[in-house]
Amino acid sequence: MPDNQKKMIITVLGSGTSQGVPVIGCNCPVCRSKDPRDKRLRTSILIQTPQVTVAVDAGPDFRQQMLREGITHLDAVLITHEHKDHIGGLDDLRPFIFMNKNPMPLYVSDTALPEIKREYSYAFEEHPYPGAPTYDIHRLDESPFDLGDLHIIPIKLKHFTLTSYAFRIGSFAYVTDLSEISDDIIQRLQGVEYLIIEALQRKKHYSHLTLDEAVDVARRVGTRKTWFTHCSHSMGLAAEVNRELPEGMMLAYDGLKLAISNGIASQEIFQKSISKSNKAKSQ
Ligand SMILES: [Zn+2]
Ligand SMILES: [Zn+2]
Ligand SMILES: [Zn+2]
Repeated sequence: MPDNQKKMIITVLGSGTSQGVPVIGCNCPVCRSKDPRDKRLRTSILIQTPQVTVAVDAGPDFRQQMLREGITHLDAVLITHEHKDHIGGLDDLRPFIFMNKNPMPLYVSDTALPEIKREYSYAFEEHPYPGAPTYDIHRLDESPFDLGDLHIIPIKLKHFTLTSYAFRIGSFAYVTDLSEISDDIIQRLQGVEYLIIEALQRKKHYSHLTLDEAVDVARRVGTRKTWFTHCSHSMGLAAEVNRELPEGMMLAYDGLKLAISNGIASQEIFQKSISKSNKAKSQ
């Protein structure tokens, strides 16, 4: 097993649910908020190590997220599941595909692949139109795999009637789009110190975790720090929700970076990102 925890930077590309925040046409206090932490593009993260740059999902905001973060190279995309907010940006992988002069490796489950083939049928034709994206499909199941210096352990999740995958890398895990937490999942997350997990809203939902459910997972796993992602506008203002959350837990926000070095996440980077967003808030 490669020593995957030597160095890794996680960037929250987007922390919002499927409609994003603000929601088109909504006039609620969260959608009108000037706080940058209340502006949420569709959920995704980027993982960077000295050897590889990997995105988890490429949703409808992927292009904007790559431009915002100044990403010039991408080695692979891991797909959690086939909902549009997670795969809507797969056509925008083309600049990376053209730069790499190679099809983009996609790690996709057997259940998500048919949907991707349907949505992007032009990429899977026998003789695709010139300029169509090209993908190098790798089968994603619960078997761990290596990507450069990353050792990735997928964890299968139940997302109402669908299957979604969480990804654990050493002391870090990214868990989104799930409706149930089993003892088995908690077991597989044991030892995770830094967790990004979805919390849609406070009210019970058929296919997503509520804030209380996500807090409970963090407690049961015993994480050091937890950030909640895939948030809806109905969650409330980030500043207010953060005040209510237990020590070591907060809502994720777009652009949040966390540097993990030898299994320990750098506080400095959190503080820098937080003070930057606070500064922007007061302007
Ligand atoms: Zn709203
Ligand atoms: Zn979903
Ligand atoms: Zn989603």
